[in-house]
Amino acid sequence: MITGKNHIGNRTSAEGAVTFKTFNPILNGENDHIYTEASNDEVNHAVELATTAFKKFRSISGTEKAAFLNAIADEILALDDTLVQVYCSETGLPEGRARGERGRTVGQLRSFATLVEQGSWIEATIDTAIPDRKPMPRSDIRKMLVPLGPVVVFGASNFPLAYSTAGGDTAAAFAAGCPVIVKSHPMHAGTGELVSQAIIKAAERTGMPNGVFSNLNSSGIEIGQKLVMHPGVKAVGFTGSIRGGRALYDMAAQREEPIPVFAEMGSINPVVILPEALEKRGDSLAKTYAGSITLGTGQFCTNPGLLLGIKGDALTNFTQELGKEILQIEPSVMLHPNIIGAYEHNKNKALSQANINVVAKYDDEVKTNFARQVVTTVKGKTFLENPTLHHEVFGPFSLVVQCENAAQLEEIISSLEGQLTGTVISENDEAENYPNIIAALQNRVGRIIFNGVPTGVEVCPSMVHGGPYPSSTDSRFTAVGIHSIKRWVRPFSYQDWPNELLPDELKNENPLAINRTINGELSRKNI
Ligand code: NAP
Repeated sequence: MITGKNHIGNRTSAEGAVTFKTFNPILNGENDHIYTEASNDEVNHAVELATTAFKKFRSISGTEKAAFLNAIADEILALDDTLVQVYCSETGLPEGRARGERGRTVGQLRSFATLVEQGSWIEATIDTAIPDRKPMPRSDIRKMLVPLGPVVVFGASNFPLAYSTAGGDTAAAFAAGCPVIVKSHPMHAGTGELVSQAIIKAAERTGMPNGVFSNLNSSGIEIGQKLVMHPGVKAVGFTGSIRGGRALYDMAAQREEPIPVFAEMGSINPVVILPEALEKRGDSLAKTYAGSITLGTGQFCTNPGLLLGIKGDALTNFTQELGKEILQIEPSVMLHPNIIGAYEHNKNKALSQANINVVAKYDDEVKTNFARQVVTTVKGKTFLENPTLHHEVFGPFSLVVQCENAAQLEEIISSLEGQLTGTVISENDEAENYPNIIAALQNRVGRIIFNGVPTGVEVCPSMVHGGPYPSSTDSRFTAVGIHSIKRWVRPFSYQDWPNELLPDELKNENPLAINRTINGELSRKNI
């Protein structure tokens, strides 16, 4: 049941004076429930509880954490249609998408449960003592990963489940042993509250310390800023715009004790279409890409906002076909008035740039909050000279760049900001002839795709969802898949520590039977 209150540990609270409602973009009106923004005291209380909870949560066993994560997944599923209905009413997204995203969220939670239950993820590394080493004896040194402390999570509006309250960041932080305080997204506050209740029920059912999770409402940026500046917070996970992520990153760096901010942000996901592929498959590629650009009304961080080719008849034909195909697609609703407002603003800004040509622009009347798709094109030189054209237009918008030749294509790729993905469309072995272009692309992105579309992010251990700045603030980590746990831990060494005082992961007997690197060799052996 939605209460509109903040969840601070296992207690609800609504002391603040500011209230707000969520918005149904299809009905073009506010939803009924009223949410109360957290007060200063509530922010402080949530962080204090999380700090206390960390003392216990940091060292509970992998089996107990797995039970907690699986219980969250079960409780989310138990919300059933109630959750789906609230999700749809707050986003305008269809029921199928809600169920699909719920499946992904539950799958992520369970994959972290398996990871921590198996236990080897903590990278136990043991170098045993060599007392008679000359000229100096070697100490016994044992290393493992340990949690950072309370983590604040900000979700993006376009993934109310998978990148929000119990999304990848939260699941990974719990798995690592970090309490989580969610700064709830105001545009899906009801979805966020239902999921919060599921987390709290799961925490109580599995005996987790009170304060392992809190959910704070806010309708503006102040609560998030207070959380990031709070000395009790030790790391931040953010998914959203470059502007938001960068602001929080800068704030965290200016704290007396700077903390890491793992921000996953915007991206235009360049697609390089090589000449032979353009020649042979231009029409079918145009259809495929019209679908990818408009998928989910273009509201994916992996949306292909930039298509790069070498000028000529084949590229001209592809561009015109893309324009025709995209106009066949019925416009769809965007998530909320702020997103549609930002889309209109950024689209018009791009369209007002010098020497940009409109290939296709959906001009018919559409319902309020629906987005009209646009395909544009520019010459390579124009693109190189105008940084505005390099920026994300979040929505169904794409720009085709006609490069003079392969050298200019490489120069353009090298000039791009960091991206989540890069795609190469190639005919058979064609890509082999463009090693510099492939290398340049690899240098700017976190994931490179061959003959596909960038939209769609598989959740699996080998996935990298992140990339050079500004697609993320730290390209060494992924935000998707089990390895995203590494954002919330630090390496920690014990030197000459008595066996009985060591954590189980590092004891001689290896009671957890995990993989460990002992004197350079990976094994499950005892010492
Ligand atoms: P957003 O406007 O940046 O909002 C995300 C969250 O951050 C909200 O809770 C927002 O609070 C908060 N926030 C924003 N600016 C802030 C600031 N200066 N200080 C404190 N808090 C701040 O993003 P969105 O519109 O929800 O999502 C769309 C964006 O997310 C797109 O750019 C998309 O590419 C990106 N995205 C990236 C990924 C990825 O994995 N890389 C995935 C999904 C989406 P308020 O709403 O209260 O202001």
